[in-house]
Amino acid sequence: MATHDTDVCIIGGGISSAMLAEKLAELKPGLQITVVEAGRAIDDVRNRGQYRQRAMEYGEHPWPGDYIEDQQGQGLISMTMAVGGLALHWGGACNRFSEEDLRLKSLYGLAADWPLEWKELEKYYCEAERRLNVSGDPSPYPQDARSEPYPQPATPLSYNLQTLKGWAEQSGLKWSPLPMARNLKPFGGRGSCCLFDTCGTVCPSGARYSPDFTFRQLAEPKKIALHDRTLVRRLVLDEKTDRIVSATGYHQDRPDDPTQYRAKLFVVASGYTWSAHLLLLSATARFPNGLANKAGMVGRYMNGHRFIQARAEIDEQTWPGQNMTHSLISREFFRCPTDKPFVRHDTRVWESSAGRDPRLRSPQGRLLVGDEVFEDWRSRTKGSSVRLRAYLDVHPSADSRLTLDPSKKNRYGDPMPKIEHRFDEATLARTAADETHVMSVFEKMAKASHGKIAGRNDGDYLDHPGGGCRMGTDPATSVVDSWGRTHDHENLFVVGAPTTPTGGCTNGTLTFVALTLRSAEEIARSVRV
Ligand SMILES: Cc1cc2nc3c(=O)[nH]c(=O)nc-3n(C[C@H](O)[C@H](O)[C@H](O)COP(=O)(O)OP(=O)(O)OC[C@H]3O[C@@H](n4cnc5c(N)ncnc54)[C@H](O)[C@@H]3O)c2cc1C
Ligand code: SF4
Repeated sequence: MATHDTDVCIIGGGISSAMLAEKLAELKPGLQITVVEAGRAIDDVRNRGQYRQRAMEYGEHPWPGDYIEDQQGQGLISMTMAVGGLALHWGGACNRFSEEDLRLKSLYGLAADWPLEWKELEKYYCEAERRLNVSGDPSPYPQDARSEPYPQPATPLSYNLQTLKGWAEQSGLKWSPLPMARNLKPFGGRGSCCLFDTCGTVCPSGARYSPDFTFRQLAEPKKIALHDRTLVRRLVLDEKTDRIVSATGYHQDRPDDPTQYRAKLFVVASGYTWSAHLLLLSATARFPNGLANKAGMVGRYMNGHRFIQARAEIDEQTWPGQNMTHSLISREFFRCPTDKPFVRHDTRVWESSAGRDPRLRSPQGRLLVGDEVFEDWRSRTKGSSVRLRAYLDVHPSADSRLTLDPSKKNRYGDPMPKIEHRFDEATLARTAADETHVMSVFEKMAKASHGKIAGRNDGDYLDHPGGGCRMGTDPATSVVDSWGRTHDHENLFVVGAPTTPTGGCTNGTLTFVALTLRSAEEIARSVRV
């Protein structure tokens, strides 16, 4: 078996891994860092314009080969496995959670408190925003006070969003442009935003942060070794102690010739699905339920947020298509008085062309010709259609689980993961009240301009999923401490999304990154060069 020796072995090449590797290389120059990623390195900045064009013109998938055919499971599992991970495709929305997320138990008697203070996390939010070059304006809510300004001002609002902001403010809520990891000016080897408006598909200028840039910037000057197309199937325990001695990786072209990655310290940065999966797969005679799983907590409390979307028809006139990926956020309902029924959610507003796109047939199916097309179109473009959405704070039960599914195996015969999300009793009990609350907010907004809610659509999955290796101070109820160090193995860390006890009520990735940057400091302290 081939061997590869390194100081720190990071398993997974997503955004958490990129931020960890970047910070470790700065904190400890000379530290040998190896990133092992199951998927391929899509090193193709030059081709992005073409990918975008083909995606728009032919509906082609813009990132060919960004997945591994037989590495899939049941439940909410993203297929993306490539250098950059899911953040190759993300929109770049970078909201912070709020203090309430860390104190759900002590404030409301719900779910669990996080094992760190808001003031401390806030410091790492600032760092995450600097590294991702987030553009944003200070929140109008004093509770959202920041210790540092955003590195860039907010992406300017289009005429449409300015109009919608004026409309939305009539309901009494306060709004700001959504903070985004998008360059307004070139930064970090990436271009500036040219409003291509396809951030979630592919950003041709690289303005929207994407971890593949960071990996290239680290790998080219050899600050890290990047081994792509290599799936780590097992973490190997020392025979006598509880330390991890190696990770066994299989390159796609050499299935019969694994590489043993030997390191002083191992970091599982494999995202919300594959982190818990790898720990469970690595069971041994001494750890029959998987590594870091003495308490049976690995794979439990899988989380994320529910969402409700609606369409409002209002009088204010907009002309859809100006910058449809940008939006407004109100953080009004991040706060919930402790003596009122618990409900927390963000509130978002986008311009929308729903019902307003030109069409060639009437609703009855008759072909429209000549001026009829324009008459039909003009008759439907009065006022505005507005897209509304709320991410709800919902809490997982211990049975919200990732387990190994023996009925589905990959090419090596490893059981694939199965994720079943389940809510705790308090969340289930307030489901109807949560929905009523969100719809009443949407209706109040619509009525402020003689508008109405024209459609509602509830998400059937949890967005920004996390959990499975939750952090806590008690080894009996958690997998890792606040730094991501596993309670059971001194030299094994898990970082980012899997460590979150609860999923918050807004986009999660900035929080995953902030937690990872905090872990990086403990990892740097723990490993000697
Ligand atoms: C379309 C889309 C839009 C999104 N938009 C937003 C947004 O606007 N804002 C926001 O906050 N979030 C957004 N998200 C979510 C965001 O992308 C994720 O939260 C984030 O990228 C997760 O990063 P990660 O590093 O935790 O994990 P991942 O990105 O999943 O990275 C983990 C990596 O580890 C690799 N890996 C796993 N197991 C192994 C193994 N055993 N061996 C080797 N490698 C392994 C995987 O291949 C993967 O590349 C979006 C997601 C999608 C899909
Ligand atoms: S609007 Fe266009 S250039 Fe700007 S971040 Fe999105 S895709 Fe990139």
